[in-house]
Amino acid sequence: MSTIKANKEIKGIKIDPSIFTFKFHCLCNGECCYYGVYTDLKEHQQIINIKDKIIPLMDDSQTTDVSKWFEAPEKDEDFESGVAVGTELFNGKCVFLDENGLCTLQKLALKENEHKWKYKPLYCVLFPLTIFEGALTIDDEHIDRLKTCNKNPVKEISIYEACRDELIHLFGEDGFAELEDYRKEFLNGENSREVA
Ligand code: SF4
Ligand code: SF4
Repeated sequence: MSTIKANKEIKGIKIDPSIFTFKFHCLCNGECCYYGVYTDLKEHQQIINIKDKIIPLMDDSQTTDVSKWFEAPEKDEDFESGVAVGTELFNGKCVFLDENGLCTLQKLALKENEHKWKYKPLYCVLFPLTIFEGALTIDDEHIDRLKTCNKNPVKEISIYEACRDELIHLFGEDGFAELEDYRKEFLNGENSREVA
């Protein structure tokens, strides 16, 4: 991914304005989970802490050996702790993905009547968006390498519109309102450039 040109920052995160125009339509069975995800060190620890609730929800396509769930930690300033920990792959998919294409962490939250993203790593929630070098942007490298992701976007909506709930999750309602103001300002600027 190349360095992002961003003039706006919300809650310490720069905004790549291409999220307002890039067309996206999510319509597949979670191919994005075949590669695993990078979690923050704290998210990784939280998952380990609730392993006894996760294991009973796993099926035969998954491993209940906790030592096989995560890669070695590595430094990464795009994560709150400054350390990222990747989930391992097992049977060609993230260790937490079950044979029906469901995330076990999300299954657990729903079973407990909690918000579906309670235990889910932030970067799973955000995809196809991501945070790269401090900027909210499109994870185009991952989208491009997937066979089914956004290959036939039938609806003409932007990735920003497609990911509204995810953006509220990231910024809160107040931050999202600020983002919406920035979107209007940005698109007005684009339209006036087209007319001129
Ligand atoms: S984000 Fe892409 S790969 Fe993931 S479920 Fe949606 S279309 Fe499929
Ligand atoms: S943790 Fe869940 S949502 Fe994230 S990549 Fe793994 S299976 Fe997919």
